[in-house]
Amino acid sequence: MAWNVFKLCTALKGLGLIIIFLVLGVVGVTYYAVVYCNYGPDLAAGGFNSLLGLIVMIVFHALLVMLLWSYYVVVLTDPGAVPPNYRPLVDQERGETEPVEAPEFGLLSTPDPTNTRVRYCRKCNNYKPPRCHHCSVCGRCVLKMDHHCVWVVNCVGAQNYKYFLLFLFYTFLMTSFVTVALFPRLVVFLDDGKIPGSTSSLATTFFAFVLNLAFALSVFGFLIMHVSLVAENITTIEAYEKTTAIWHYDLGRKRNFEQVFGTVPKYWFLPAYSDEDLQKTPALHGLEYPSQTDFNTQEF
Ligand SMILES: [Zn+2]
Ligand SMILES: [Zn+2]
Repeated sequence: MAWNVFKLCTALKGLGLIIIFLVLGVVGVTYYAVVYCNYGPDLAAGGFNSLLGLIVMIVFHALLVMLLWSYYVVVLTDPGAVPPNYRPLVDQERGETEPVEAPEFGLLSTPDPTNTRVRYCRKCNNYKPPRCHHCSVCGRCVLKMDHHCVWVVNCVGAQNYKYFLLFLFYTFLMTSFVTVALFPRLVVFLDDGKIPGSTSSLATTFFAFVLNLAFALSVFGFLIMHVSLVAENITTIEAYEKTTAIWHYDLGRKRNFEQVFGTVPKYWFLPAYSDEDLQKTPALHGLEYPSQTDFNTQEF
């Protein structure tokens, strides 16, 4: 097969497994530094150190479980594909409410290029639902595509955006917690030059501290950006494309939040949805999105 620039997309796909091993490697180094080099041995020390060690171990393992669970779910959940025979009835993307004439059978392969009200993907040879975009890495259209994320080796879209946000959230909590937990161990060394444990455990502690601090700082900025996007019910791609001041998918902060996280509070921090939300929230499936005209937004 001849070389072409689209091979770059294939290269990004190939990078996938390497990135997963990189993420697991960072988790492994962190686990070794926290559990084996520092707070695990403290459990047998007795007194306050044992109590502190126990608290750190419980919080660390709880955050680790949530982080790995979110990561597993966002990597393996399909962000949402366009059904093969999807046909739009109205052009919600442009805010027009005129019904679009339903195409005859077979028209999908020969759409009218002058009909600008209908969004059509020439690469997939299919109509595009509102908020859908074509991903050149995945080679297909993705429902409510936010971005293609190299870290999760997947597109982030309608059906896995919540899981991606939880992965960011737990990564931030975990890396911040580890940074704070390991800092006093380095201070002991910097203060009196005494090496707590072996030289290799000090080196691992220092390496894990720097890694977690770097991740905490970079993820924090990303997390803040996505919190503001969820609050406005807008994707990363739409934020770049948006040209009008009025965003008709903005239903107010509470409803915008529920469009991503669901309406059942006990599921907000879990990478899952209640059956009730899956049945009653069309936005979670990615084909239909309520707009401001569907709600009386005065209450917000
Ligand atoms: Zn497409
Ligand atoms: Zn993609």
